[in-house]
Amino acid sequence: MQKTPEQKRLKIIIGVLILILIFAVSVLGLIIVSDKKAHDEVSNRPEVETALFDEEANSKEVREEEKKSAVVIDNSNCATGFGNLMLINPNFKVTTSWIANRKKQLISVSKTYGIQEGNKNNGDNLMDAEAAKHLNDMLKAYEEYNPGHAMVTRSCFRKVGTKCGRLCAATGTSDHHTGLTCDLIDPKYGTELNADYYNSHKEWQWLRENSYKYGFIDRFPAAWAGGPMSEPINVDENGSTGLYETWHFRYVGIEAATEIATGKYNDGKYDSLEHYLKQIGKVKDLKNGKCE
Ligand SMILES: [Zn+2]
Repeated sequence: MQKTPEQKRLKIIIGVLILILIFAVSVLGLIIVSDKKAHDEVSNRPEVETALFDEEANSKEVREEEKKSAVVIDNSNCATGFGNLMLINPNFKVTTSWIANRKKQLISVSKTYGIQEGNKNNGDNLMDAEAAKHLNDMLKAYEEYNPGHAMVTRSCFRKVGTKCGRLCAATGTSDHHTGLTCDLIDPKYGTELNADYYNSHKEWQWLRENSYKYGFIDRFPAAWAGGPMSEPINVDENGSTGLYETWHFRYVGIEAATEIATGKYNDGKYDSLEHYLKQIGKVKDLKNGKCE
């Protein structure tokens, strides 16, 4: 059937209206979508801010961790801030709370490297991680250069001091509080602590001559004892240590150990840590515990 012109016009108008409707719906749809997106972005913003905040919180935690791993400074002893060169002796004392904090920063030498503690009564042989790594290297070399010999520790970190005359240091005054020290015993020579006896063995002499290469020093050499061990303790302003212990090795780092062992500030002779710290200007008054 043939459509009248009016019917044709109506059809065109309806078609145009449908197109307009489709267009309008599409535009409306786009507006809704973009609005939702914008809304989402806005509502996401607090999350972004939270994330940034969390990141900040995390880095605060990291900073706290870093603080924990750094050596705590005891305000009553200026030399605890010297890192591997820290000084604790009867004139540079530390508090019991400092000692307790220091303990938390140490690792077990036996669990980490299999180096055994020779005296079970001493508990775990705790030490600063960097020092323990170097101790392990040094003792492996000791075994290599001295076949049939090995070393065990005879206490490293000590929480409390001991009272046994000149050979021991009271709580707060011991180099063993630093976490950088171990007494070392070669079981081949028994367990009796006799300085001259150990000194007479060539294996022990190897340790004394080579320990600086691993960052360790003979902490209490005879020349710096400040007099015979039978006399009262003498820790003076010139750098005497008051002690003579051939088994006591202290980590100070390779550079300082080399300067101490080769006597850079002591006419080529083995130095004491006390005298060295005064010579390099870190300590001002060895008798009264004052730093520069
Ligand atoms: Zn010792």
